[in-house]
Amino acid sequence: MKIAVIGAGAAGLAALRHCISGTYGDQVVCYEKTDQIGGTWVYREQTGFDRYGLLIHTSMYKSLRANLPKEVMGYPDFLLPEGPVSYPMRTQILDFLNTYCDHFKLRPYIRLLHHVELVEPVAGDRKWSVKVKDLQNDAVAIESFDAVMVCNGHYFEPIIPNVPGQNIFTGKQIHSHDYRVPDFFNGKKIVVMGAGPSGMDLTLEISKNANRVILSHHLTETIDTVFPENVVQKGDVVELTEREAVFADGTKEQIDVIFYCTGYKYSFPFLAESCGVRVDSNMVTHLWKHLVSIKNPTLALIGLPFYVCAFNMFDLQVRFVLRHWHGERQFPAQADMLCSEAEETARRAERGLQKRHFHMMGPEQEHYYSDLANVAGITPLPPVFSKLHNESSMRFLKDLVHFREDRYKIIDDYNFVKLSC
Ligand SMILES: Cc1cc2nc3c(=O)[nH]c(=O)nc-3n(C[C@H](O)[C@H](O)[C@H](O)COP(=O)(O)OP(=O)(O)OC[C@H]3O[C@@H](n4cnc5c(N)ncnc54)[C@H](O)[C@@H]3O)c2cc1C
Repeated sequence: MKIAVIGAGAAGLAALRHCISGTYGDQVVCYEKTDQIGGTWVYREQTGFDRYGLLIHTSMYKSLRANLPKEVMGYPDFLLPEGPVSYPMRTQILDFLNTYCDHFKLRPYIRLLHHVELVEPVAGDRKWSVKVKDLQNDAVAIESFDAVMVCNGHYFEPIIPNVPGQNIFTGKQIHSHDYRVPDFFNGKKIVVMGAGPSGMDLTLEISKNANRVILSHHLTETIDTVFPENVVQKGDVVELTEREAVFADGTKEQIDVIFYCTGYKYSFPFLAESCGVRVDSNMVTHLWKHLVSIKNPTLALIGLPFYVCAFNMFDLQVRFVLRHWHGERQFPAQADMLCSEAEETARRAERGLQKRHFHMMGPEQEHYYSDLANVAGITPLPPVFSKLHNESSMRFLKDLVHFREDRYKIIDDYNFVKLSC
């Protein structure tokens, strides 16, 4: 098969590695719009647009240290190197991805500074037309492929909620996508909106520089972690005035900055409508197993599930897809795939989850991984990965300030131990 891989982040590299592994003898081209591999792990001071007028992709900030232990952050058969700490710095992850790229000799297949502009199925031909711009030479070409793996990442298009008064607020408004260093927050009063992993981490980071940080969220319970003294938690911001934030409990605070840590939209701006992929309130449909386009199964979207062992999952998803594309496993009938998606939608709705939580795994990740492995008949991920991921997530919530001091060792496929400090 001739396969296009879009993006050379952690997912695209896993895709490339398995496509060229020799198992199937596929031809593959990986298009990457920036000048480096590594995706969101490439730190760039610049925000806004790059020199080609494209939005800066990365959301990485300077001080970032992973929020998962390295023991679960590698690929199944290519691990992060041993070291004295479990939670690596961002630079270690980028180095790791470059090592992976060199180890599997992936670079010759990657076309850097090539921006995929349009992907569409060719009617009646079972092929894909991929329109790509060579940014350096300002030249557009159209290439034909049998299959496409979309690995464009999911943390580049900010969600900014509508808040009444946003347009009259005279302070600064910034999304975490554009955050790099804390200096800007020196001595300021800030509302951090959103208590997901970024909101929590960045609250802690900017509290060192800020005068006061108000972590605003709509979790039903107060977050049970010990924050520094200049941090308070409040409910939603219901309105902004010129200088104040008004909260759901009726209180008001004079503030300098609204810091939106409100997440990202799934976005596939290059997929033509005829690809059959839709995004509705951050639920991507119609997909089989959060992964394969039901309308056009030679289109796969790698990496949608979140709260997962990301690189491990990418590897598993890619192996799953290739088994099917090469006929070692058959895709179910379209009606059955749609039915399975509808059943999962209903199950999640019953549990009170909203559309935007459709791809959230967390405690369900083990079930997702073993299902993929069983259905495709491929080597599963060791259950210890999910177990350690869940332990780390729990520690993150309970002890944000210290959880990165924890050190772990994986003993076997099922067990890990926490090492004494
Ligand atoms: C601030 C932050 C912290 C994180 N911390 C962790 C962590 O501690 N642990 C963890 O496991 N995960 C973490 N993540 C999640 C992280 O995104 C994943 O681990 C993983 O790196 C995602 O890989 P990806 O390949 O799917 O996407 P990306 O890394 O985003 O890569 C996508 C690539 O596609 C390219 N691309 C996009 N569109 C096009 C196009 N049209 N044409 C050509 N190329 C294109 C981009 O330039 C990019 O290189 C974090 C994410 C963020 C934003």
